[in-house]
This record gives sequence, structure tokens and C-alpha cells, in this order.
Amino acid sequence: MSNTHTVVIGGGVVGASAAYYLAKQGNDVTLLEQGELASGCSQGNAGQVTPGHLPLPQPGTMWRNLRWLFKSTSPLYIAPRLDLSLIQWLWSFNQACNEPHLRKATRILCELGEASATLFDQLVDDIGLRYQNKGRLEICRSEKTFLAACEEAELLRECGFESRRLAGGEVQQFEPAIQTDVAGAIYYPNSGFCNPQELVKQFATAAEACGAKFKLNTPVTDLRIERGRVAAVVTPQEEMKADAVVLACGSWAPRLAQRLGMRLPVQPGKGYHLDLERPEAAPAMPVVLVEERIFVTPIDDFLRLAGTMEFSGFNLRQRPARIEMLAAGASRYLPGVPQALERSRWCHLRPMTPDGLPIIGRVPQVPNVWIATGHGMLGVTQGPITGKLVAEWIGEGKTSLDLTALRPERFRRAGRNSNESGITDAA
Ligand SMILES: Cc1cc2nc3c(=O)[nH]c(=O)nc-3n(C[C@H](O)[C@H](O)[C@H](O)COP(=O)(O)OP(=O)(O)OC[C@H]3O[C@@H](n4cnc5c(N)ncnc54)[C@H](O)[C@@H]3O)c2cc1C
Repeated sequence: MSNTHTVVIGGGVVGASAAYYLAKQGNDVTLLEQGELASGCSQGNAGQVTPGHLPLPQPGTMWRNLRWLFKSTSPLYIAPRLDLSLIQWLWSFNQACNEPHLRKATRILCELGEASATLFDQLVDDIGLRYQNKGRLEICRSEKTFLAACEEAELLRECGFESRRLAGGEVQQFEPAIQTDVAGAIYYPNSGFCNPQELVKQFATAAEACGAKFKLNTPVTDLRIERGRVAAVVTPQEEMKADAVVLACGSWAPRLAQRLGMRLPVQPGKGYHLDLERPEAAPAMPVVLVEERIFVTPIDDFLRLAGTMEFSGFNLRQRPARIEMLAAGASRYLPGVPQALERSRWCHLRPMTPDGLPIIGRVPQVPNVWIATGHGMLGVTQGPITGKLVAEWIGEGKTSLDLTALRPERFRRAGRNSNESGITDAA
């Protein structure tokens, strides 16, 4: 076992994955989590593993949605308020809504996704994960949406992701649970799903079996910096010595990053789920209702309806109308939904970056700290590869994928030679 003691802060999918891969390669690891394991965004998300995915900022995203951005029942909602960090974030987001960024970011997301999909297959044997590689169906009601979905599929094909177009009449044959007329659907075979909370717990169990220690209900309140390095992480109980630190605390990451002199533009993007007893006619595979932006996943014996994006600050207040939107939207396609008994309602905060890419890299001014956050809508998908990359970097000093474009300092204030968004070309 190496003498390096690595402290991982955050027990979501990213932190648990990092602890697992670090412990597996012989590192001495302690994970500190302020609440219970998977008590953040990793608990009740849709659990879909989507290796081929486009980033959220796309040409026209802002202006196309401007009409209903401030309407609390729209899928993408911004609660109107004066919040400088949100205004800066939206500005940077808008700057990233262009074709070259879309192509570059899609390529990067696909590269991460593909590497993670390989790990998901391995995790079935290695940690007993119940990962189901059944593919994913994206359903479009209108011709216009279907055409746009076909264009997306084409872009993903260029990045190596195969898909199959289904005409309206074929959709019901393919997935009999869908009981309405639709314009068409795209089937992505290289996708899957799992129970996301179970994924985190299985990472933790496997990490502990390799010697990692998990301390729950232990918030990190500060980082003690000595001679340009973090010497210890501070909790209410103790100061824990650390040779290396992984900041994997999702939407909370900017708070501790500030202690390192680093501004991380991560906004909390609230999403909801509604879990129902599984209706008799439920889809057998993960489904995305594209117009409604609802993710339907048949997890274990229940059906999870998840989605919506709400920028309303750092809080877990539930807006009932947004949960009802999930039920109403899904009922259009799945007639068993209105009668199905409700199991749970949940919301949490996705760590959203303005360029739609995660932040994975070392803090330049404090080089024994690694940041791993900002996975937005793809943290389950990219959790395994993120943990593995961080472990490679800490253990071997190099990574199997190029992380230049994901480095944390890409958001530094624009200088004379970079564009105004602060998103510099990192490729
Ligand atoms: C409705 C919804 C649906 C989604 N569906 C999908 C999907 O289908 N597929 C997909 O890939 N992704 C999906 N996501 C996104 C995914 O859930 C997130 O990207 C992912 O969970 C982020 O993981 P994380 O480990 O970075 O953060 P989190 O899970 O939020 O974990 C961070 C942890 O850090 C802890 N923490 C914070 N500060 C401290 C501190 N100071 N000290 C100690 N601990 C601390 C928190 O308590 C928390 O447990 C969805 C999200 C939502 C909301």
C-alpha cells in the first residue's frame, strides 16, 4: 500500500467511484461525506447511462427557450432574481451556445461516455452491479422534434455512436408500452441503466473491501493550506492529514474551491423525480420523452419519471407543479401512469457548468488538490470514468484520456487573448 493518504470529499457517485478506483490501486483513502452516502444528486436521479450525449449549450438554446424560461411550469425554468453568479453563468452559457463548441463538447462527452460504458460492463463482474445494457429510446411526438433528434443522432454517429431511426408506426412495435401516435423515435443501443443509489453503495462496499475508510455525517468545513498545498482537511471533529485531496462534492464544490482561490462557475440545477409502483404496461428500457424532457426508467419494481431543470438557487424546495408536470407528460404516452400508486417525490441539485462539460483536473495553485465535479445531467454516466481518471492521475501521474479541455482553470477571467465568456479553447 502506498504511503499517500488521499481524502475524498463527497459521497456521491463521483466521490465513491474515486474512492473505489484509488483503493483498488493500493492507495490509502478516506472519504468524508457531510450526510449519508448518496444523499445528494446521486440518490434519486434517472439512473440512465447515456454514453453518447450532446452538451446543454447548443446553438440557439437560450433564444429558443427565452419565451418560457421564467415560467415555473416550463421544463427549463429560471426563478427571476438578482444573483450575480447566476447572471455570469448565464452569460457564459450563452457564449457557449455555438456550433464549434457543440461539436467539440460532444466529442469530449462521447469520449468520456464510451470509456465509462466499458467500465459499467466491468463493474457488473467486479462489484456485482446490476447494470442493464438494454439501450435507450428517445421518443418524439412532432415531426419537427423528430427531425432535430435525427440531426443529433447524426452528430453522435460521427462520434462513433450508432442509432436506429424508427418511424412513427414502428415505435409501438418496438416498445409496446408506448400507447400514442408519435412522429418517430431514435433507438440508441449503446446505453443502459442502473439503480443510481445502489451504484454508489456498491462502489463504497467495494472500496471498503480494498481498505478505504468512509466517514459519514462528517462535513469538511475548511482546508488547511501550508506552503501552497493542502496539509489537512478540517471537520468539526478533527483535522485530518492529507497528502492528496479530491473535491467531489457536486454542487457544493465552489464553496471549498473558493478556499483554494479558485472560482468554479457551478450552478445548482434542480431536477425532480416521481417514483410510481410499476404499471403493468411499463417500458422495458429507458425512455426519453423528448418534447417533455422527461426520463422514464424502469428501475427494480418501480417506474421513475425524472427531469426538469430549475435554476432557483441553492435550496431543496419542491414546486409541486413541476412534479405534476412529470406525471402529466408521461401519461400522454403511458396510459397506466395516472392510476399507478405514488412511491416518492424527490428533488436535488445537479452541478451545472456553463459550457456543459465536467471539471476534472488539478488545481494549479494548490497542486495536491483534484477537482471532480460539474457533471450536470451526466454524473451517473461519467461517474466511473471520472473516478478512474482521478485515481490514475494521483497514482501514476498520468491519465488514459486527455483532460486538458476539462481543467478547472478554463473558467479564469478572460484575458486579452481569450473570448469574453472565459471559456478558452482548451483543445
Ligand atoms: C432529476 C435528475 C435526473 C438525472 N438523471 C441522470 C441520468 O439519468 N443519468 C446521468 O448520468 N445523470 C443524471 N443526473 C445527474 C446526476 O445525478 C449528477 O450528475 C450526479 O449525481 C452528480 O454526482 P456528484 O457525486 O458529483 O454529486 P452529488 O451526488 O451531489 O454528491 C456530492 C456529495 O458531496 C457531499 N458534500 C458536499 N459538501 C460537502 C462537504 N463540505 N463535506 C463533506 N461532504 C460534502 C454532499 O452531501 C453530496 O453527497 C440526474 C440528475 C437529476 C437531478
